[in-house]
Order: sequence, then C-alpha cells, then structure tokens
Amino acid sequence: MGTSNPHLDRHREEGPRRILHLDVDAFLAAVECALHPKLRGRPLVIGGLAHERNLVMSSSYEARAFGVRSGLLLAEAQRLCPTAIFRRGDSQAAARLGHHMAQVVMRFTPQVQVTSCDDFLADVSGSTRLFGAAFEIAQRIRAAVWNEVELPITVGIGSNITIARLAGKLAKPGGVAEIWPGYEATFLRGLPVEHLPGVGYRTRRLLERFAIRTAGDLRSVSREVLFASFGQLGLVLHDRAGGLDERRVEPTWIANREGLLVRRAPKSIRRDGTFEPEESSRRRVEAMLAYLVDRAMSKLRSAGLQVVSLAVNIRYVDTRPPSLRRAQRAAAPAERAAAASENATRRVSRSLDGASDSTDRVAAEARAMLRSLPRRRALVKRVGIELTRLRPAAGWQGTLFSQPAADRAADSAGGAAGSHADRQRQLDDVLDGLRERIGFGRVLRGSSLPLCETHELKAEGFRLRTPSLNQ
Ligand SMILES: [Mg+2]
Repeated sequence: MGTSNPHLDRHREEGPRRILHLDVDAFLAAVECALHPKLRGRPLVIGGLAHERNLVMSSSYEARAFGVRSGLLLAEAQRLCPTAIFRRGDSQAAARLGHHMAQVVMRFTPQVQVTSCDDFLADVSGSTRLFGAAFEIAQRIRAAVWNEVELPITVGIGSNITIARLAGKLAKPGGVAEIWPGYEATFLRGLPVEHLPGVGYRTRRLLERFAIRTAGDLRSVSREVLFASFGQLGLVLHDRAGGLDERRVEPTWIANREGLLVRRAPKSIRRDGTFEPEESSRRRVEAMLAYLVDRAMSKLRSAGLQVVSLAVNIRYVDTRPPSLRRAQRAAAPAERAAAASENATRRVSRSLDGASDSTDRVAAEARAMLRSLPRRRALVKRVGIELTRLRPAAGWQGTLFSQPAADRAADSAGGAAGSHADRQRQLDDVLDGLRERIGFGRVLRGSSLPLCETHELKAEGFRLRTPSLNQ
C-alpha cells in the first residue's frame, strides 16, 4: 500500500487531538452506484431481489425517503417503495472499494484505523502543518474519495473518537462537521443519550426510568449511582457523556522494517456463507464450509499467522408452514422443544492439537466438527468458520516445518518423499501464489466443487451472500 510519509509525524505539535471519523453513506447502495452509475439518484434496495425471503442490508437515501430501512423484509420494502430497484449487493466489490478508500485516506496521515469495511478513524493531529486544519483535511479527503473511488462520505471531527463519531452523525449524509476543542461539553449537554456509543434500546429505557434523557442529565448523576445501577458500563457512559475518551486511533496498517505498510495482525478471522434459497443438500453445505475454510486459511497465511482454535457455526431455518409448526408444538413437550430449536444457530468450538496453518488439516477438523453437530431436518441458512487464538507463524512451527517455503520446495525437489503434511504445505504455498496472481476463484480445491451447482464462480471466487462485511 505504498510507503508512509516520514514528514507526517515530524512536526507533531502539542495541542488538542484532531480525530476524523469517516463513514460511507449508505455503503452497499453506494458501492452499487459506483459500479453502475445509472443507478445514482434512484431508490435502491440492497439485500436481494424483491421476491426473495431476505432482509434489507442497505438502501439509498432516495429509498429511505419512502421509509425503507435496514432490517426490513424485502417484500415490505417493495410495498413501501414500489419503484425501488432491488440488487443483491457485491461484497467483494465493497471490500475492494473500502480498501481503495483506505489508501486515499492514508495519503493524509498514517494513523488510520479501519474499524469496518466503510468506517475509518484517522488521527490528523500530526498532519495539519502539511495539509491545513482538520476541517480542510476532511474536505480534501472527501473530495479525493469521491473523485477516485466514487463513494460519498461523511466526516465528523472531534478531539477524541467519541466526539468525532457524534459529530459525524450530525453531518450525515455527505457533510463535514467539527466540534471545536473546548466546545465538547456544550455540544453534549443537550444530546439525547441514545446517541452515545454503548447506549442501546435497553439501556435507554433503563436510563429513562431515572429521568435521564440527555448526556447532560447523565453527567449530573454521580458515578457511584451509575456504577451501582449499570456496573462498568455506567462509568464508561459517565465519561462519554462528559466528552472524555482516552482511546487512541490504532493504525490498521503499520510500516515494517523496509518501510512498507503491512496490515496489523487480525485477532480472529471469520468467514460466513449464506444460502439463498436455503440449502437441503448436506454435500453442498460441507462444500461451502470447505470453501470458507480455504479462504480463511489463505488469509491466515498471508498475515503470517497460525491458528490454535476454531469454531464452526451453522444456522437452520424452519420452513414448514406456520399451521404445521403450531400443530407440532401442540403435540408433545419433547416435540415442542425440538420444534422451537429448529430455527437456531448451532456452534461448536475446538482447540487444535498445536498451532497450524494447513488448509487440509483445518478443513478436516472443521468438517468433523460440523458432522459432530446434531443433524436437523430443517434447511441450512448459513454456515461459517471462525479462526481464533491466532499466533505468529515464526516460533510456533515445529522443527520439521521451520524452514522457509523456498527451502522446503527445494528439499522435496531433491527427491526425498515428503510426508502428507509436507505435500499439503507445498500445495498451500503454490495455491496461495497462484491465486494472488490470477484470482482466488481460478483454482478450486475439489472439496469446494459442489458449490458450482448453486453459486456463480468469478475470478475473485464464488459470489457469496455475506451477512457481515467485517474484514
Ligand atoms: Mg456507513
């Protein structure tokens, strides 16, 4: 991602921190418009085609004017806005554009934290001498992102992360808003509590019982009372309501010894695949899991990591007609319990016997874990893999595997018959290199092949419907 600019840090001045919160407006809808400019200005709903049984994932502001919002059923969205255009959304393009946007922002400061695909924090305290005041930097970034990535963004500016996020809410969509240093308390005083990060529906209802409606009200309550009622969250809320937030922007990309920017190691890697329509074939569910493991492991190796623990999750959906469900519920207590759990997510986690970065090994483990879960007659809506407890590959490899890839390849070329593990390791190396050059989807492992029956395969891989765009 280019090299960092050494001038940016040199003139860091003491003074109030200037933090930017950058957020793409109606992200998935905006991505669709960037790909198909003809859609601009039209009511657009992302989540699936109108007849599909899915939820709205994102919608353009033109559709929101009709009352469409995320989480509605697609059919409901169509009822509210009959002229809406429905699209499935393209999570791969979204990731690509989000990445491009990060590159643009990093021209203005190396202190950029990617908090999700379309949500960034940037500390520009050290960049003002080079690029002007924070407000000016924000406008320049917004213009550059629009010109180069064709995504509309909103920027909030404040002396810490909370204030920057809150300022951003004021400026939605498409604006830049700054809370000047020293004006934080004034800004917060009348702000409804539900705007504070950490205050969800439940907390707001609880606070209301104490007649606490604004950040100012919250601030006037003693910390002891808040701690007694809300525990640790109460203390955090008291700080946030007073504009106090010591959290620092943690750069997602850091310069390595050669001055190149490398992504900071993730704490976990998760991949999910959703079936539309729901899947009844166990073979294709296992193929999906194998494909997701393949993707997650390739990501793991590219970050120079090994995995110690993994979790497999599967979501079933009860598609029987409601009348049948009612009948079964009435039948017997045991039946009732079974019926209730049809619509459910099952999760199993396990630690490996030592750290590994082998796709073959983790795929076998994940398949065994999936098979260990109780089978249901219900259809499968979603399956996923999560790699947790990640460790740097160096120092955790056994002696057999401690040599770099090139040496290993040379060894095997020398004629020594490698073990199964050795051969799999070579296969991983070769596939990683090949896929980086020609695209992940150009080379498939046999275990993923059944997915071709139901999923479109592109150069970047299968077109998946992913509920979360994290990573
Ligand atoms: Mg957004």
